[in-house]
Amino acid sequence: MYELRNVTKRYTRGKDTVHALDGIDLTIGEGDRLVIQGPTGGGKSTLLQMLGGLDHPTSGEVSLDGTDLARLTEARLTKIRSENIGFVFQSFNLIPTLTAQENVETALVPLGIKVRERRELAAEALESVGLGERLAHLPSEMSGGQQQRVAIARAVVKKPKVLLADEPTGNLDEGMRDEIMDVLERLWKEHGLTFIMVTHDSALAKKAPRLATLRKGRITVTENTGA
Ligand code: ADP
Ligand code: MG
Repeated sequence: MYELRNVTKRYTRGKDTVHALDGIDLTIGEGDRLVIQGPTGGGKSTLLQMLGGLDHPTSGEVSLDGTDLARLTEARLTKIRSENIGFVFQSFNLIPTLTAQENVETALVPLGIKVRERRELAAEALESVGLGERLAHLPSEMSGGQQQRVAIARAVVKKPKVLLADEPTGNLDEGMRDEIMDVLERLWKEHGLTFIMVTHDSALAKKAPRLATLRKGRITVTENTGA
């Protein structure tokens, strides 16, 4: 599914250059589950941005199903992203004036799905994350854990091939962290999704078949034989 070849990302500021990614080679197969760990500043979020086509490498190649993402037009890339890639970030990024259901529906608008079907699919996705009773709530009327579950429903409602999650429990306190990890673990098990998650949660890391560690832009991948 993903092939990364000698991917580098450099950020330059004056005469300072940061090698956020420094020669990453990585293959991720369809349905793979990969946990990414490592110290702050190691390049985890940068790598996820490359995988999601949100940014392009300075050099090297990120290809998804045989297509180098950097060679696509912005329109084509946007289409691939909206159809195939779901994102969950540390901040929930919900629209404050929209209900839970409307927030989830926003992911379906670019796909040209009609209003009625959008509502149904959004309600189903919210039920699947345990929020069937909260369809009409605004983000301000929900806890952090509930808001993040809405964001997860929004990421998976279009049934993407890939789910990318960047420290999805990073902004939550402990009880809510477990709540989100349970939801993610269920998705992780039940869907045929390719699931790539940056997390410090060691319980989930233990269950990941593959673990990647990013340190100063360099990657080490270990197969997790105990998973
Ligand atoms: P992580 O997610 O592992 O904490 P990041 O991928 O966010 O790490 O950052 C990797 C390195 O790249 C850090 O040194 C960070 O300061 C730098 N960096 C990330 N994004 C930018 C940017 N937009 N401009 C300049 N430097 C950046
Ligand atoms: Mg990060």
